[in-house]
Amino acid sequence: MANPMADEMRRFKGSDEKNPFEAMSERFDRAALLLGLDEDLYAVMRVPSREIKVYIPVTLDTGHIQVFEGFRVQHNFARGPAKGGIRYAPDVTLDEVKALSAWMTWKCAVVNVPFGGAKGGIICDPAQMSLGELERLTRRYTSELIDFIGPDKDVPAPDMNTNEQTMAWIMDTYSMHARHTVNAVVTGKPVALGGSLGRREATGRGVLFCVNEAIKRFNLKPEETTVVVQGSGNVGGIGALLMHEQGYKVIAVSDVGGGVYNPKGLDVPDVLNYLKVNKSLDGYPNVDFVDNKALLELECDVLAPCATENQITSENADRIRCKILAEGANGPTTPKADKILHEKGIFVIPDILANAGGVTVSYFEWVQDRMGYFWSEDEVNARLEAKMVASFDELCFAAEKHDVDTRTAAYMMAIDRVAYDTRMRGIYA
Ligand code: NAD
Repeated sequence: MANPMADEMRRFKGSDEKNPFEAMSERFDRAALLLGLDEDLYAVMRVPSREIKVYIPVTLDTGHIQVFEGFRVQHNFARGPAKGGIRYAPDVTLDEVKALSAWMTWKCAVVNVPFGGAKGGIICDPAQMSLGELERLTRRYTSELIDFIGPDKDVPAPDMNTNEQTMAWIMDTYSMHARHTVNAVVTGKPVALGGSLGRREATGRGVLFCVNEAIKRFNLKPEETTVVVQGSGNVGGIGALLMHEQGYKVIAVSDVGGGVYNPKGLDVPDVLNYLKVNKSLDGYPNVDFVDNKALLELECDVLAPCATENQITSENADRIRCKILAEGANGPTTPKADKILHEKGIFVIPDILANAGGVTVSYFEWVQDRMGYFWSEDEVNARLEAKMVASFDELCFAAEKHDVDTRTAAYMMAIDRVAYDTRMRGIYA
């Protein structure tokens, strides 16, 4: 009889390097093989639990109706309610959302929070939409998903182009249908509506905590460490700011239009303020301008891609010149590039650990909402640091124990935890 596990694994050989779901699956397969994962568990864990596609009619400001396409993929519930952000983008695809939902499962398991994984997306261009249109889009999307989300089912959060306001609309829409306020249905909400102090900064802060641990392995101190950050949004902007505050020499940052570079170090608060006012880095004084490709190839100690997927591929991996790669974004590196980075000796803090600060504080937010008792920001940050440092240490230990690269070790840790819980619950088949 054919081995279904081997057949599945063969599917991804020689496939599209930039398809995020294939990239996720290839890494899952490698880790599953090394763990000797049971064939039945393999079959269950490598696919999402549920994929939901919705068509969302929205009354535009012109009075006409436009129908948008949206997704919610719930990847795994073995360890608790599904958890994951919602992305608004013109080019978001179901495969991308599927990959992101799986990464959420593995990420929650790496930092050991009791959630499964999910992700959502709507194909739209938020830059071209008014606030009213975005609100109507968000509310109708929420109402289409009303039976599938909830504090014990699936808890959305912000991702690219969604924010606290989006979460407040989702919370309100869900609460209107429930006939009472249910603030634990989303995380990343405004603090006044049951959000957590420290949530907005949590992903960038988690990147900082990981980098703090990683530089110790190179006997570097923050003041001696140069950092390049791609992206200046929630993760990249806040990550760069916090590293700057801690004494790191941030020498380059970018947004979608390109980056600014000064080998002597940037005044990060000033750069971010300039970007906020001018909506672009163009014209910022006393710097060199670099495009996003060139930025990734700058010589530095820490490179933090914090924008989007597929930034480091087999095409440019050989030209990456950092000691530490801290993946603030989800899926910035392809599996082919992984191999090259490993051969070059670059220490990778994989995305499912590096950017897990966000979901960790989302978990804290959900806990606080359900207790109805809220912690101080210092308490949130201290708990976050404890979790990130412990997870970083566990990851390094696993990499050494299994003699594998850090990404494979992260997948192995995560898959092992989800597999254990699935096995203990039993497969209802
Ligand atoms: P954001 O929208 O706040 O910021 C994105 C930044 O990337 C912006 O500066 C934008 O100009 C830039 N950018 C967009 N497309 C780009 C491109 N093609 N090339 C270069 N720069 C580009 O988004 P965010 O919340 O900071 O998310 C960034 C990444 O981090 C995503 O991969 C997201 O999935 C991941 N992530 C976010 C969180 C969170 O809590 N926000 C948590 C975990 C992971």
